[in-house]
Amino acid sequence: MLRKAVWLHHLSEFSSAQKVRDWVKKSKDQGFDILIPAVKNYDGLADYGSRIAPIRDCFKKWDPLAVAVAQARKEKIKLHAWFCLAHEGIKARFLSEHPELIARKLDGSVSGSPPYFYFICMAQQATQDYQFSLMEEVTKRYDVDGIHLDYIRIGDKVCYCSYCKEMYFKITKEKQIRTTDGWGKYSVDWLNWRAGRIEALVRRTRAMTRKYGKELSAAVFAGYPECVRAQGQDWVNWSQQGLLDYVFPMTYDSSPEIVRAWARSHVAHLQGADVQHWEGLGKIFMRDGGDLQKQLDVIVELGIPGVVLFSYPNLKKDDFKVLKKY
Ligand SMILES: [Zn+2]
Repeated sequence: MLRKAVWLHHLSEFSSAQKVRDWVKKSKDQGFDILIPAVKNYDGLADYGSRIAPIRDCFKKWDPLAVAVAQARKEKIKLHAWFCLAHEGIKARFLSEHPELIARKLDGSVSGSPPYFYFICMAQQATQDYQFSLMEEVTKRYDVDGIHLDYIRIGDKVCYCSYCKEMYFKITKEKQIRTTDGWGKYSVDWLNWRAGRIEALVRRTRAMTRKYGKELSAAVFAGYPECVRAQGQDWVNWSQQGLLDYVFPMTYDSSPEIVRAWARSHVAHLQGADVQHWEGLGKIFMRDGGDLQKQLDVIVELGIPGVVLFSYPNLKKDDFKVLKKY
């Protein structure tokens, strides 16, 4: 049998604690092994009883994470708390207190979807300390099985904030910035520094989750090593160093052949790594259960032990029927 997990972006889809309990119970009945609800979303608001980040309005009177965790224990299904790390929104206090941490493109403009969310500078220590403090808070206060890293990367076409620019000139000794976007010559020292900053947060989170006996999983780009150059996200290196328990490449595509090609490359990259490699499949890009079945066949054919579906609201009746067969 394939192992199965599912992402759920918005706990706010549930209007009551009972609906959260029903979701957990139903997911267990449907054969899922791990539930991955987002507890810190793009906008920086907490979908749990945080004492650090501002809590989303609808969760000020009840805590959906506490409810989900309690039910998960009862149903004997695992739960990883999902963090969107490189994003903060204008409603979140962190951004208004630290506007200097908004990530910048080379022309000084911002990246993301403002004001709903901005990419933040993942290289700066203050950003990492804050995001780490949220993950540590959840690890300490909730009986979760693990922490799930997402947007564990540099953002799109960023970051060239004043701190990063200063670091660029210091590290490369160059007079003009050459970006790592697209084709062309770039500084390998700069690439390594950026990847090193992201790895530092992974490594620190790994030490923390280990201390509390929790697992660590990560959603990563399917396109490796492009993600190292453009995003500082070297998930193969993390996996080979034993920094993750699970790695979930987001192999989202409508074509099973494209999925096959990507998944094969992931298997090759992860050879010898002590990590659970489950493929992330984008149900959001498929039409129906028939499409899902074709992609699941590819995963089984390649001997990959599990899949993670994106995302729960995209799964329909015929998808669950298909999933039961694997
Ligand atoms: Zn920066």
